[in-house]
Amino acid sequence: MSFTMTSKDYVAYIKIAAKKIHENGEYISKLDATTGDGDHWANINLGFENLVAAGDEMEKLPIDGVFKKIGMLMMSKIGGSSGVLYGGAYIAAGKALAGKETLTSEDLCLALETMVNDMMQRGKAQPGFKTMIDSLYPAVQAYKAALAEGKSDADTMEAVKKAAMDGAEDTKRMEAVKGRASYQANKGVGHLDPGAVTMSYQLECLCDYVREHLL
Ligand code: ADP
Ligand code: MG
Repeated sequence: MSFTMTSKDYVAYIKIAAKKIHENGEYISKLDATTGDGDHWANINLGFENLVAAGDEMEKLPIDGVFKKIGMLMMSKIGGSSGVLYGGAYIAAGKALAGKETLTSEDLCLALETMVNDMMQRGKAQPGFKTMIDSLYPAVQAYKAALAEGKSDADTMEAVKKAAMDGAEDTKRMEAVKGRASYQANKGVGHLDPGAVTMSYQLECLCDYVREHLL
C-alpha cells in the first residue's frame, strides 16, 4: 500500500523547501558567483516566496492543478534558466497527472520523471552536463528502481534522497556543457553546480516530508 499525498501535503512540503532554500542564501549565491552570474539563489528564492504566498489557494486545487499552478508561477516569477526549466517541468507534470486528486508513490515518481524529461528536452541537456538535472535524474532512476524492487515507502524515500544528494555532490567533478559555467575556462571543475544543490534541497525536503508525515 502506497502513501497518499494530498494538495495540502504538497503545499506543506513547498513551505519546508522554501525555508531550506531561504536559509542557504549566502551559500548558494556564493556557488553561483563562482560558476555562474550569481543570481540563482535570488531567482529560486523569489519563486518559492511566490509559491508560499499562493499556498492557501493551491491547497484547494486537485493535485494536477497544484502542479500546473506551480509551473505557471515559476515560469512567470523566476528569472533566468531556472524559471523556464522549473516552470515547463511543473506544467508538464501537471498534464501527466491530469484528473488526479492526490498522489500515490507511483504518481509522484511519474511526476518527477516527467519533470526531468521535460527539463532535458527544453534545456537540451543530458545527465553529466553539470546542471540541476544531475540531481533530479539519478533521483528518478533510484525511485523507479525502488518501485520495481518493491521496496518499502520508507526505504524508497531514503534511496531517492540519497541519489539526489549524491548527484548534486557529483557535479563538483563534472565539466559544464550547458549553462553559464560552460563559458568558463575550466568549465567549473572543482565547484558544485548551484542548480543541482537547490534541486537536491527540494528532493531532500520532499522525501523527508513523506517519511515524517505520510508513513
Ligand atoms: P541562468 O543560467 O540564466 O543564470 P539561474 O541562475 O536561475 O539561470 O540558474 C542556473 C542553474 O540553472 C545552473 O546552476 C544549472 O543547474 C541550471 N541550468 C542552466 N542551464 C541549463 C540547461 N540548459 N539545462 C538544465 N539546467 C540548466
Ligand atoms: Mg544565473
